[in-house]
Amino acid sequence: MNQIAENIHQIKKSLANHDYTLVAVSKTKPNEAITSAYEGGQRHFGENKVQELVDKQAVLPKDITWHMIGHLQRNKVKYIAPFVYLIHGVDTEKLLVQINKEGKKINRKINCLLQVHIAKEDTKFGFSTTEINEMIEKGILQNLQYIEIKGLMGMATNTKDQEVVISEFSELNSFYKKLKPLLNLEILSMGMSGDYHLALEAGSNMVRIGSAIFGERDYAN
Ligand SMILES: *Cc1c(COP(=O)(O)O)cnc(C)c1O
Repeated sequence: MNQIAENIHQIKKSLANHDYTLVAVSKTKPNEAITSAYEGGQRHFGENKVQELVDKQAVLPKDITWHMIGHLQRNKVKYIAPFVYLIHGVDTEKLLVQINKEGKKINRKINCLLQVHIAKEDTKFGFSTTEINEMIEKGILQNLQYIEIKGLMGMATNTKDQEVVISEFSELNSFYKKLKPLLNLEILSMGMSGDYHLALEAGSNMVRIGSAIFGERDYAN
């Protein structure tokens, strides 16, 4: 087994008692790295830049399930609308409207997660729970015919303090459980390389893991 496939294997082994989807976050990594994971059986991959996602999707195997996990600009929705499996970072009503519009153009329902701001840092994107509640009350989410709201996504504060991370994940899980019956939700996407164990303990069923699979990213080149 190659090293990348081996890393995935080890992660899965350590999570054998959980029910979840593993999204391998391949941003900044070359196609060869993705192929290595693919050869080990991995099919869900996540990218955070539209151009990189489009370029990779064009040349890699067609049975890969592509996730857009990063901040998405409205004018770029059209490039991924035809093939993206799930957009994790939907964080404004305007973006929802745009995704709905692009879905309508190609007659495709696009799966989305609402990103919820749970971290103490204000650098992270996302709706507040109040904003989401308001959209539900106004019927906005229910009226987007070309969007399937599949669930919620959140990122915890980047801290070594596990109590903070656990409480943020638990808070999002409570909100998820509240909305689940109202919107027919199925996915709670939380957990990255540094905190996926905590996330799964707190109720996550989709983890987005990059560096623990592919190694540290090098943004210098
Ligand atoms: C990069 C990224 C990840 C993966 O981060 P790692 O710490 O490398 O696992 C997960 N989610 C989002 C939204 C990201 O941008």
